[in-house]
Amino acid sequence: MEAATEIAEVGRGFYHRGWVLGTSGNFSAVVSDEPLRLAITSSSVDKGRLAAEHILQIDGSGNVLEGSGRPSAETLLHLAVVRLRDAGAVLHTHSVWSNILSDAHASEGGLAIEGFEMLKGLEGVSTHEHREWLPIIENWQDMVRLAGAVEEVLARHQEAHGFLLRRHGLYTWGKDIAEAKRHVEILEFLLEVRGRTHVALR
Ligand SMILES: [Zn+2]
Repeated sequence: MEAATEIAEVGRGFYHRGWVLGTSGNFSAVVSDEPLRLAITSSSVDKGRLAAEHILQIDGSGNVLEGSGRPSAETLLHLAVVRLRDAGAVLHTHSVWSNILSDAHASEGGLAIEGFEMLKGLEGVSTHEHREWLPIIENWQDMVRLAGAVEEVLARHQEAHGFLLRRHGLYTWGKDIAEAKRHVEILEFLLEVRGRTHVALR
């Protein structure tokens, strides 16, 4: 499975940036639309050692079709993003800055980022004057409840390129793995700038 090799490579790269330490984070890519089939990381895998053999193939209900192991606990969230955003890939990180900022801005329901050149790395954005609103969702352990909250937020914020789970991490997506990877890099950069600016100017 070509997607598995690509996902594993992207995941190891994120690990080395400190965005998915330990077994945290999870990644998926659509391998078939009709019927829906996803390549997705198996749960409890060290992302620094992520290999193609750790990527499962699942159907649109999360049942494993290929590979051994359990799909990520957050499979329902990946399926929600794929359905509501017509995404070809969904990438989820547990970075330091997404944890800090999702907590600091939780009461506002989201975080606005505007005026940075790097925003132009987001699909459809052509000027640094763009205002990106990253919604923040409370982190429920009940995945059905959390998926419902994600669906509601995605429907309400059609322009958003990603969202934050409070004290948990970042979700973003793209039409393919390359675009989703770019969105992680752009959003993690912007989150770090926001966080470090706050510390520097305190
Ligand atoms: Zn997570």
